[in-house]
Amino acid sequence: GQPVCECYDCYGGTDCSELSPGCAADADSGDPIFLEPFWMQNAAASAVVIPGWHRMSYRYADDTLMSTELETYIRKLHSIVGNAITEGRYMVFGVGSSQLLSAAVYALSSENSSSPSNVVASIPFYPMYKSQTVLFNSENFQFEGDTNSWQSNNQTNNTDVIEFVTSPNNPDGELKKSVLGGKTIYDHAYFWPHFTPIPGPSDHDLMIFTLSKLTGHAGTRFGWAIIKDKDVYEKFLNYIFTAYLGISKDTQLRVLKLLKVAIEQDGKPLFQFAYNKMRDRWDRLTSVLSKSTRFSTQNRHHLHCNFFNKTRLPSPAYVWVKCEREEDDDCGAVLEAGNIISRSGRVFSAKDRYTRLSLIKSQDDFELLLKRLTELVSLEKNSI
Ligand code: PMP
Repeated sequence: GQPVCECYDCYGGTDCSELSPGCAADADSGDPIFLEPFWMQNAAASAVVIPGWHRMSYRYADDTLMSTELETYIRKLHSIVGNAITEGRYMVFGVGSSQLLSAAVYALSSENSSSPSNVVASIPFYPMYKSQTVLFNSENFQFEGDTNSWQSNNQTNNTDVIEFVTSPNNPDGELKKSVLGGKTIYDHAYFWPHFTPIPGPSDHDLMIFTLSKLTGHAGTRFGWAIIKDKDVYEKFLNYIFTAYLGISKDTQLRVLKLLKVAIEQDGKPLFQFAYNKMRDRWDRLTSVLSKSTRFSTQNRHHLHCNFFNKTRLPSPAYVWVKCEREEDDDCGAVLEAGNIISRSGRVFSAKDRYTRLSLIKSQDDFELLLKRLTELVSLEKNSI
């Protein structure tokens, strides 16, 4: 019969429960929809209503652009999770962490030097570091690529380098440290118990966090920087003020409401939900891939997690797949032929023998991904 309503992509039949045979699993984007069920369970407590006359001013009553109440909650959250030192540090909010990444490059670059500061990151790295630095096309900074090749070409002078350290890393989930030891920007987008054991609080000069991968509200566009140095902090504020006149107060109100729920019962409900979900996805994925000799993934090592007070494996947001067969030098294309859409190694300045699968999308997306992977692995002649 006729469908009673319009079905989502990939589904058909009268009650939308039949999967269309050729439909591709899309594991490309890092949209963090895996947390949607948690917020459905907490729908009333996390809801926000704003009357039309409310919060119209640019500023808060204390003349700031950033809510001090929200700042207090963020500090409380870090102290509960134990993932960052915030005492005696400055904090700046941004439109997602994306805005703060470019603010950080601006704030750390040398204004008066005759040559621009060199921005580097370690391959494989999140592509935004390069694309933003290129877009802003400043006299004060330029993108110089990989830290390792920088290190071998410039052994003597590391002074005017700004190094992005993504920990855990996107795409491979590794807990990274600075290679060059100079000016560094720690991008801690994924440094939450969902994705990694928390071995201890991060204590770096400049750390950047985002709501997107913490609560899953990527569309709210909110991130924060934790900054040790007063001059660097003032340059951040100058950037946000001069370029944008601050960030949305509506956003700040919504974030406050979400974080109040996040820190209930010392964060246990949110982080337990998020970790269980990620661990379950990794367990099921590794069980499928354990039958494969064609595909391998990053190694994961047990670490003590201070938050859960136990030793556990990381459960990264992404699977960094390697195609092992000599002829499979375009791993993204191999997966695509098996109806799986991934993000190729080249996007992260790595080889196309690697490709990234997102594990943080909706449950339907994950189930379809697992189904397509199972089909692909079962095609292997020598599958175990
Ligand atoms: N850093 C890393 C490593 C990311 O993966 C992302 C988003 N995928 C961001 C920063 C930016 O996220 P947002 O602007 O939503 O905070």
